[in-house]
Parts: sequence; C-alpha cells; structure tokens
Amino acid sequence: MLIFKQKTAIARHVKNLGNKGNSIGFVPTMGALHKGHIALINQAKANADVVVCSIFVNPTQFNDPADFDKYPVTIEKDIYELETNGCDILFLPAANEIYPDGWDHDKLARYDIGFLETVFEGKFRPGHFQGVCQVMERLLTIVQPHYLFMGQKDFQQCMVVNRLLKLMQSPTKLVVCDTLREPDGLAMSSRNMRLTKDQRQKAIGIYKALTYIKEHITPGKPIDDLLTKARNILQEHQFILDYLEAAEAANLQKTGIWNGQTNIVFLAAAFMGEVRLIDNIVLHPNFANHGN
Ligand code: AMP
Repeated sequence: MLIFKQKTAIARHVKNLGNKGNSIGFVPTMGALHKGHIALINQAKANADVVVCSIFVNPTQFNDPADFDKYPVTIEKDIYELETNGCDILFLPAANEIYPDGWDHDKLARYDIGFLETVFEGKFRPGHFQGVCQVMERLLTIVQPHYLFMGQKDFQQCMVVNRLLKLMQSPTKLVVCDTLREPDGLAMSSRNMRLTKDQRQKAIGIYKALTYIKEHITPGKPIDDLLTKARNILQEHQFILDYLEAAEAANLQKTGIWNGQTNIVFLAAAFMGEVRLIDNIVLHPNFANHGN
C-alpha cells in the first residue's frame, strides 16, 4: 500500500492510474478503523480497480470540541488493517494540507444543502454537515474517484454527500453500503471504543429499540405508539435521547405512518454517557413483517 501525505502527490498518482484505464474507488474515513470500514474497502475492491482510503479527523465537522479532542486515533493499527485487507493507497493528510488557510468558519465555503441541514443530525449538530461538505469537496477534488463508498449507518450524511455531488456536478457515483454490526447488534462505530464495559452492554438498547419497531410495525397504522415504546427502550438502557423518529427514506420528511409502499427510515441518536451514538433501519415495501 502506498501512503501519501501530500495532496498534489496523491492527486498526480491517482490521475495517472485513471488515465491508464483504472477505475478508482474511494473510502473516506476518520480512522480508528473497524470491520465496518473494512467492509467498505471490500466493497470498493469488488467494484473498482484501485482502492483509495483516506484517514482524516476533520476538525470542521465537530460541533462539539470535546468530541474532536477525544476522537480515537489508532493510526498504526489502521495502516496494518488497510494493508492486510488489500487497500492500494492511503491518503493521510495533516490538517493544514486540507485546510491551508485554516478552518475559521467565516473563511470556509457554505453549501446549500437545504432541508437536510434542518432535521435530525443537521438540527442537533449545527454546522456538522457544512463541515462534512467542506472536507468532502476537498477530498473528492483531490482523488476524483469514479465511485465513492459510504456507510448507511450515516444515513443522512449519505444524502448530504449525494446533494454535494450534484452541487459539484461531479461524475462520482455514491455507493451506499450496509451497516456492519457487532454480534449483539450494536452498529460498529469508532466511538464504541470510548464506552466503558457497562456502557457497552447498555448500548445494545439502540439496536433493541430499532428492532422493536421493525418487529411490530404494521403498514397503514400510525407509528406514534411504536416510537414511544422504542424511546422507552432507550431510556431503560440509560440513553439520553437526541431523537428517534420516522421519515420517508427518499427525502427525510418526518412521517407518522408507513404506507408499506415506500421506503421508511427510523433514525436514532442518543448519548450513552458522553458518547453520542447514531443508528437507523430502513424498511422496504417488500419487508415481510406485515402480520403484526
Ligand atoms: P467515519 O470514520 O466514522 O467517518 O466513517 C467512515 C465511513 O465508514 C462512513 O461512510 C461511515 O458511514 C462508514 N461506517 C461507519 N460505521 C460503519 C458500519 N458500522 N458499517 C458500515 N459502514 C460504516
């Protein structure tokens, strides 16, 4: 695996590979890699000739400075994991490589991501998606991939990045990959390593709440009671809730009923101690649980 720290060097190298007819698959990450990230690498390998991964803890997307300071860094292990899992190129820039003029908010571009910025993660993490767009535009301009691989775990982020690709008039195609989970159902996340043993056990509540909804939903019936029950499950596991809501998967408009004919997404964000976790499930029209 080749490791680049400078954007001009990686841009030149990847462009050369592209000019030779290779398709480029890109997996942007913030490091502290887990099997969910590796699943993205595998998907990129299956779909592209050359796999580029980036590790960059992007300062502009942290609305909470403490979250940024405590974000786990395991770079040696990450390099080992990427190397042994067949990643071709790692981009490992320093912050001033990505933000040579610093990252004061007034100096950075603003992106029109519309409604997406006003709900769920947009509402609870002001400025977060602007930071995501700021870093993603820079990374995409450097790597210019044919395919971009991102996780459904960050459902709203995928929608924001799709919008960014449109704003950029980029030819890059976003491939959204399934959420990888621990054996007990907890969605893998770099933040999980900040949980104490006790918190880690309770954190399963977020998956239990979403699973409860999946197992009890009936098309055509209001879902208020289901959401209340699911929020109670989170509370019973000592989560402090930001939100647990249902929305149309196509546009993130909140909904109080599922017609069974369109995709619906249930999105949750909650604090386990100081650690904020998010998760979601998407139900499709052909989802089988219509008998309850
Ligand atoms: P992060 O390093 O948390 O910014 O995540 C980098 C990419 O990995 C994003 O596209 C995430 O959506 C994706 N990702 C994070 N956790 C998972 C998971 N459990 N399963 C699949 N993809 C994930």
